[in-house]
Amino acid sequence: MEWTGGCLCGALRYRASGDPVRVVHCHCGMCRRASGAAFMTFVHFAKDDFDWTAGRPKRYHSSAGAERGFCPDCGSTLSMHETVLADRVQVSLGSLDRPDLVRVDDHVWTASQLPWLEVADDRPRFAKISDAVPSRALSDDDSEPLRGLPQGAAGGDDQ
Ligand SMILES: [Zn+2]
Ligand SMILES: [Zn+2]
Repeated sequence: MEWTGGCLCGALRYRASGDPVRVVHCHCGMCRRASGAAFMTFVHFAKDDFDWTAGRPKRYHSSAGAERGFCPDCGSTLSMHETVLADRVQVSLGSLDRPDLVRVDDHVWTASQLPWLEVADDRPRFAKISDAVPSRALSDDDSEPLRGLPQGAAGGDDQ
């Protein structure tokens, strides 16, 4: 199906011609800070399927390999662009016109999940990054990529 979405004020709009390639709940501290919410859900669309139909998000580097995008007018959190995931555009779940129709794949960074947040679903949960996608996310105290570390390994709070 075709998916559409945009920011709260309507200055930014997008369209995706194919279904999401992945949908993930991220519990990391950076997503919490960026969104203002308890956790953030990203919907990944193939870059070739995705177009901004009105406006463009303002982007900033939230870490070395990642930029986050937001509406410069209303401030809505909109997108994530990672160098290791250059084949896709990640948009915030809440920006979709029909967020009720997505199918969530898994949870990541559950090591940073808020202790009072109760998650009743049975989707896979990863203490840090998922095995499903590459990442260059680093812990605060480790210069090595986290990929390959056992789940639950001690480490930083942020992606
Ligand atoms: Zn806006
Ligand atoms: Zn995150």
